[in-house]
Amino acid sequence: MKDETKCLHSGYTPNNGGPGVMPIYQSTTFRFNSVQEIAEVFDDPTKAHIYTRFTNPTVDCVEKKIADLEGGIAAMCTTSGQAASLISVLNLASSGDRILSTSAIYGGTVNLFAVTLKKFGIIVDFVDVDANENEIQAMIKQNTKAIFGETLSNPSLKVLDIEKFANIAHKNKIPLIIDNTFPTPILCKPINYGADIVIHSTTKYMDGHALQVGGVIVDSGKFNYANGNFPEFIEPDESYHGTIYTKDYPKCPFIIKARTQLMRDFGCYPSGMSGFLLNLGLETLALRMERYCKNGLELAEFFNNHPKIKSINYPGLKHDKYYNLAQKYLPKGTSGVMSITLNGTRQEAMEFMNKLKLASNEVHVADIRTCVLHPASATHRQLTDEQLIACGINPSMIRVSAGLENINDIIQDFKNALD
Ligand SMILES: *Cc1c(COP(=O)(O)O)cnc(C)c1O
Repeated sequence: MKDETKCLHSGYTPNNGGPGVMPIYQSTTFRFNSVQEIAEVFDDPTKAHIYTRFTNPTVDCVEKKIADLEGGIAAMCTTSGQAASLISVLNLASSGDRILSTSAIYGGTVNLFAVTLKKFGIIVDFVDVDANENEIQAMIKQNTKAIFGETLSNPSLKVLDIEKFANIAHKNKIPLIIDNTFPTPILCKPINYGADIVIHSTTKYMDGHALQVGGVIVDSGKFNYANGNFPEFIEPDESYHGTIYTKDYPKCPFIIKARTQLMRDFGCYPSGMSGFLLNLGLETLALRMERYCKNGLELAEFFNNHPKIKSINYPGLKHDKYYNLAQKYLPKGTSGVMSITLNGTRQEAMEFMNKLKLASNEVHVADIRTCVLHPASATHRQLTDEQLIACGINPSMIRVSAGLENINDIIQDFKNALD
C-alpha cells in the first residue's frame, strides 16, 4: 500500500460483520478465563492485552499504522512527545552514560536533555547540525549510547543530513534517534536514510486538530542491540522474569524493552479514546500534509517579498540555506511551518503579533488553524541567549504555522498586521 492507503487501512482490518471503524476499547483491564492464561501473557506480553498502563487494543491499532507509515517494525504510543523523547533515550542510556544530540532541537527537548537528564546522571553533549563528520566523531565518547536529532527542527527549520549522522552512529555501533514531528512520514521516512528509532510529538500534524497531546516511538527493527554496547538488551532482565530482549524478541527488542521496563514503571500510556482520536487525525494525514506544504510555500513567498520582513527560514525557498538538503530529504514539501524575523525590535514583533485577527497567538504549531508564537517569550523562555542562538533562534523571531484556511485569507491577515 502507498501512504494515502495506509493512512486509512493499516492497523485495523474489520472482521466479517465487524465494525468498519476501529472501535474504542475504553477499558483499563482485560478479563481472562484462568490464572494460567494471565501468567502466559506476562511471559509473552505480545500475546494479549493485560492492562491499559502499557497496551490497549485501540492504541495497538494506531501503533501498527504509524509503524507501517514510517517503515518500522513496531511502535509504542506515549501520552506526549516529551514522554517519547524521554523513553527513547532512557531505553538506551543509564546514569553514567552520554547521548550526543544536535543543538537544533525543540526547546522542551533541550531542557529535558540539558537539565533533567543531567539530574539522573545522563550527560547530553550538543553538536551543530552542520558540523562535519570529523567534528561529530570527536564528540562521541566511549560511553555515548545514541545520537539524537530532528529532521526539520522546531523552530529554526534546519534540515538534518540524516545519512551523515546515521553513518557516524553506525560506525560507533550506536543507534540514531530521529524526531520526525514536523515532516511526518508523509514528507520524510528517516528509516530509509538509516535512522534506527523515530519519535514524534503526535500532538502536531499527526493528530492535526489540536485535540490532544501525544507521542510515539517507532523501532526500525534494524539495529543490532546485541553488539556489546547495550548489556541491558542481552542480559536477563530480573525485573521482568529473566527476559533477554534480543533473544526472546529478536525482531523488535527496543519496543518490547521500552514497554515492559519503562512504560510499566512510568505509566505514560494513552487511553483507548486517545488512540481513537489520534487515528482520526491519521486518516487524513497524507491529504492534509499536501495542503500544509502548498499554503506554507505561498505564505513563505509572501514574507520573502515583503519589505518589513528581514529574514525567513523556510527550506522550501530556493535561497534558504537548507534548500538542497530539503530537496533530498523532503522532496514533497517542507510543511506549513516557518520562522520570520521582522525589520524591527523585539517589541515591534510582539505588536505585529497582537494585530493578527485570523492567525491565533497560541502555544501550538503544525495545527489545522494558522497560528503564531514568539519562542523567546514562550516555549524557549527557559533558555539563555546563548542557548537560543545555538538553537537558531533570534530574540525577535516569530514562528508561523500555516493552517488549512484559504491561503488568500491567511496572507491578507499577515498583510494587514504588517501594514
Ligand atoms: C512539540 C514537540 C515536542 C514535544 O511534544 P509534546 O507532545 O508537546 O510533549 C517534541 N519535539 C518536537 C519537534 C515538537 O515540535
